[in-house]
Amino acid sequence: MLGRGVLSRLHCLTQQESNTLTLYVDLDQGSRANRHGGFLVQAEAILKNLRSESGADQQLDDAAKRAFQLISSVEPRGRAAMVVVHPETGLEEVHQAGVHFPSSAFWRRGAFLRPVVEAMDENERYAVVLADARNARLFTVYLGEITEHRHLLSDIAGRSRGVGVDQWRAEKRHERHHDHEVTAHAKSIIDALRDLALEAPFDRLIIAGSPRTTVQIERLLPRRLHGKLIESISLAVAATEKEVLEGTIEVQRRMERDQECRVVEGLLSELHQNGRAVAGLDEVCDVVSDMRVWTLVYEQTIDAEGGECRECGSLVTKTSGFCPKCQAGLQPVSQLVDRLAQVVMETGGRVEVVSGGAAQDMEAVGSIGALLRY
Ligand SMILES: [Zn+2]
Repeated sequence: MLGRGVLSRLHCLTQQESNTLTLYVDLDQGSRANRHGGFLVQAEAILKNLRSESGADQQLDDAAKRAFQLISSVEPRGRAAMVVVHPETGLEEVHQAGVHFPSSAFWRRGAFLRPVVEAMDENERYAVVLADARNARLFTVYLGEITEHRHLLSDIAGRSRGVGVDQWRAEKRHERHHDHEVTAHAKSIIDALRDLALEAPFDRLIIAGSPRTTVQIERLLPRRLHGKLIESISLAVAATEKEVLEGTIEVQRRMERDQECRVVEGLLSELHQNGRAVAGLDEVCDVVSDMRVWTLVYEQTIDAEGGECRECGSLVTKTSGFCPKCQAGLQPVSQLVDRLAQVVMETGGRVEVVSGGAAQDMEAVGSIGALLRY
């Protein structure tokens, strides 16, 4: 999977004079179009587009063939894959990622890493506490990957029974002894969370396990950690890493959907005269060609054919004829929306692909829109 290590290694390619092919493919098996090798059809079309735009280039043709072989060998686990091929040094890599990237391909000096860098900036790091009355486990989840932090809780059993034997005997007679023990246990878990915050800072906190313990942890959380708490989910303390990861990703997707709804709401509220947004494919093509897009928003499965001006690169919804801006000839583009997303990313804009409720809200305005810089 993708991480900083892979990124910094690939970044070195910018020092090479010759071109690198970077291909992003949406693999998400949650989307029907990607299943049964559907993502390969998509990859093939993107590569074909790139080749027709770049004109005759044997090196690109070879790199595209290699990239397609690499993506064909992938067993989809993540939500997207990145393929990098640099023909001159023979570098060929494919990485899956637990986050979504808009499908796109780039043939230029250096690997095109901006989508990954942005995903890293945007993606929040989750800490997950799993606890019951005796045990506790601590995880972080980032970019679709999970890490268990065992060393932080290695002495938890000792700490939670940190009351001296004599005192313990005395307290045993006391009915509040049990509460005391639970509190000590919760406190030591919070200590471990504080250590984790120093070691691997996290943005969100999920608490799971037996309710008696989780309630206690929540109650004792210091304010700063409490601010990160998003929800408690139902998981046994003995859950496998895979179960913890899946539970966390589900929470994450819920939060993403909320975020998508907010973006769409913002876009819809700017769709008035003098507002800073447009909607509909024609209008979006216009503003993308003028490089005015701050955030491109579209429904996950929308696609259309269109054309690209051979001279000025303007994108339009008709597949042949002449460019409305400079009158030069148009060449057809088979996946217009992917092409729009690619241009927006290349010109420093952002891309938000929406599904679910946010996508329904977008339907009335043509399932595609853009928030504008000016
Ligand atoms: Zn033109």
